[in-house]
Amino acid sequence: MRVFTGSLCTETNTFSPVPTGLAAFRDRGYYPAGTHPPQALFYSGPLGAARQRGAELGWTVIEGMVAGAQPGGPTSRAAYELLRDELLADLQRALPVDMVVLALHGAMVADGYPDCEGDILRRVRSLVGPDVVVGAELDPHCHLSETMVEQADLLILFKEYPHTDVAERALELVDLCAAQVRGEIRPVAGVVDTGMIVPLHTTREPVRGFVDRLQQLEQTPGLLSISVAHGFPWGDVPDMGTKLLVYSDGDAALATAQARRLADELIAMRAQLQPALIDIDTALDQALQQPTGPVVLADGADNPGGGGAGDSTFILARLLERRIAPAALGPLWDPVAVRFAFEAGLGARLTLRVGGKTGPMSGVPIDAVWTVTALAGDLEVEALTGAPIALGDCVCVETQGISVVLTSLRNQALRTDLFSKLGVDLSAQQLVVVKSSQHFHAAFAPIASAVIYVDAPGSVIADYRTLPYVHVQRPRWPLDA
Ligand SMILES: [Zn+2]
Repeated sequence: MRVFTGSLCTETNTFSPVPTGLAAFRDRGYYPAGTHPPQALFYSGPLGAARQRGAELGWTVIEGMVAGAQPGGPTSRAAYELLRDELLADLQRALPVDMVVLALHGAMVADGYPDCEGDILRRVRSLVGPDVVVGAELDPHCHLSETMVEQADLLILFKEYPHTDVAERALELVDLCAAQVRGEIRPVAGVVDTGMIVPLHTTREPVRGFVDRLQQLEQTPGLLSISVAHGFPWGDVPDMGTKLLVYSDGDAALATAQARRLADELIAMRAQLQPALIDIDTALDQALQQPTGPVVLADGADNPGGGGAGDSTFILARLLERRIAPAALGPLWDPVAVRFAFEAGLGARLTLRVGGKTGPMSGVPIDAVWTVTALAGDLEVEALTGAPIALGDCVCVETQGISVVLTSLRNQALRTDLFSKLGVDLSAQQLVVVKSSQHFHAAFAPIASAVIYVDAPGSVIADYRTLPYVHVQRPRWPLDA
């Protein structure tokens, strides 16, 4: 069996002020064909799975380009076309192959391409022809367009949010694609759009139980795979929405009927899925009522993992104005402030302008006298997959008992090593503010006395009814009644 694998991933927030070009891919991860590191990355699950199964079963695995950028605004046309064409050229050189397994995000938008993954899969299909099995692992925050489903034999989405199951879903994808190559199964897709866009946190009910039931249902004879596309509400494209995707073994009616049933279940629970919108001061009041710390506050509206700049100061400003301490906040993206802190040196006290630099959705910069409490050159922290993530040069600065971790590269809070590697003891804090929507939960909930999702301003704002959509197909609940 000859297997081709590769990836091109980013999640596009069309409301984000942060442009995505080639540097954004180089900063997070760009590996030309054959140069991927030993450990699979968040955006290269199928490559890891193909390596594993290939070694076990004696396949020839051809590794094409892998590229992933931190989520941001639309990708430039030049960057998208260059990377897409590099991946396609790698595939062309690898032909003939029996199967292609890709990591794609599903919500990538480039200038002139509202559905990048549909475009990639259509071009892959035209290169390999109708008989080669084409599969992709997608992020559930995808738009799941008709083109994607038509052009691929199989699409499998992560089930968990936080996305802790990248490796498991990638193995399922590779195993099912291989079974199709061997002629053992014939995947047929059924897709049902719920007509909603809802957040689905698998860390709490009723979504936890729903996802557990999906996994039991997948064991039903005749069903191959069930995925929920949560959708990505910060992508203003026609295909945005929450959808069910079911693959049966050769039975289209069964796949569609099952997708319809599950979509109706989600629709019935829609009122419970809406996030509580807790403004900054209410969230701080609630946090201060907790007898013990640390209370973890999630600033999802400025989550770089959703395309936020990661330098907003709305919550930091209120911590300072209300003199709430001890508190820690991070990661805050500010390469200029990091540079200044490095120049001033460890232990220095200096007047520093922190954050608020990217645009109106970042708030105003904070001018204060800060103490440099830690410096870390070229810091790497752990991703949810355990793979290293580069944050560039980082510092910790402190004022009024508030420690802020400043980074040179944009990234969300994933694990607590973000703070511990800069000398911040989270157990000594009353409050810990993280820039993350939900991925933080895996590592921070176990050390938190409480977790509060804050409804702050930002380009990943929780109340997406306030976003100025132009392209999304309407009506769609809760944007419309
Ligand atoms: Zn996601």
